[in-house]
Amino acid sequence: MNNFRLKRRIRALSFYVRQARVVAKALKSPRHPISAHIIPIRRCNLSCDYCNEYDSFSEAVPLAEMLRRVDRLATLGTTIITLSGGEPLLHPQLDEIIRRIRCHGIIATLITNGYFLTPDRIKRLNAVGLDHLQISVDNVLPDEVSKKSLKVLDKKLQWLAQYAEFQVSINCVIGAPVHKPEDAVVVARRARELGLVTTVGIIHDGSGQLQPLSERHREAYEQVVSLGPKSFATFAYYNQFQKNLVCGLPNDWHCHAGSRYLYVCENGLVHYCSQQRGYPGIPLEDYTSEHLEREYDSVKPCAPFCTISCVHQVAMIDQLRENPVEALARFFPPKEPNAPFALPFGVSILAWFFPPETKGMPKGPARTLLAAAAMRILGIR
Ligand code: SF4
Ligand code: SF4
Repeated sequence: MNNFRLKRRIRALSFYVRQARVVAKALKSPRHPISAHIIPIRRCNLSCDYCNEYDSFSEAVPLAEMLRRVDRLATLGTTIITLSGGEPLLHPQLDEIIRRIRCHGIIATLITNGYFLTPDRIKRLNAVGLDHLQISVDNVLPDEVSKKSLKVLDKKLQWLAQYAEFQVSINCVIGAPVHKPEDAVVVARRARELGLVTTVGIIHDGSGQLQPLSERHREAYEQVVSLGPKSFATFAYYNQFQKNLVCGLPNDWHCHAGSRYLYVCENGLVHYCSQQRGYPGIPLEDYTSEHLEREYDSVKPCAPFCTISCVHQVAMIDQLRENPVEALARFFPPKEPNAPFALPFGVSILAWFFPPETKGMPKGPARTLLAAAAMRILGIR
């Protein structure tokens, strides 16, 4: 094992502890943003057919402005900040932005099309403390829909496997615009071969909504999921939300975008998500705890067929906080009637330590003491 891979394994341990801290803080407090996306540049070097989140001309947001936005998100209590675009690696001072996120103790993640990755660029991302990087690989060979292709990106994936000290996940997409859903299985196999984590995302339409999936798409989805590790780090991805959507079924849930999840566009406005721009459309510098409070409860009519998985994931934490028994039954349905919940190990631990007080799950004195100790260890008072 080379030095970089060894460091990636060591850093993974600290990353898992910090993720546990994010979940524990979210279970304890309902009114801070768990996760925020910020856009350092809307320009992209590619033009994927299904994408409405880019242009070919925007300038990078000035560094001082980006740092102010990061500081403001930190003041609001944000625990994870994801940089996306456009193509964020086109921002000339991206490293400074990542460094500032990490200075606040916030988890820093990056979504990129990977075209600008080189061994040197990966090492610079190591040096500034990036926690996680995601690349979407849409097909095996470039076509008119997408050039994010395994043929073009395989070398980049090899470099990531060799040099990255941060966590890397390869996102395979499934959905109507993708001509060959079987490509997702090839991509997932290659990622596993390289020792990288795979996730699978469902492509949405221009308002974040589900496009009907064919039988071929559904089969490819199941195969990609079966290739992924069943660990705590990935449990949220393979969730009941996606399982329903793949079958064309709506989800019954409350979207807390604008509160637990924020999307901050290149102009510094807070939107619910990339597909619901304009709501609430308030400048981040004016966004307050009253806005977070209000948007926690606001009803989003687009929720039933929403495919925005990062918002599903934060909603799962809130479902667990508000009604743990029902949430666990919903997330991890028993394989047979009357069998216990099929909880991943890490989730069992967190659920044991941090359940809110409910009639269904009373805490005894020993458990209260242990939970308090765990809170101290995780740095949450
Ligand atoms: S690479 Fe990403 S941001 Fe650029 S066009 Fe494709 S999906 Fe959109
Ligand atoms: S339900 Fe929420 S995350 Fe999904 S599209 Fe609507 S506002 Fe966005």
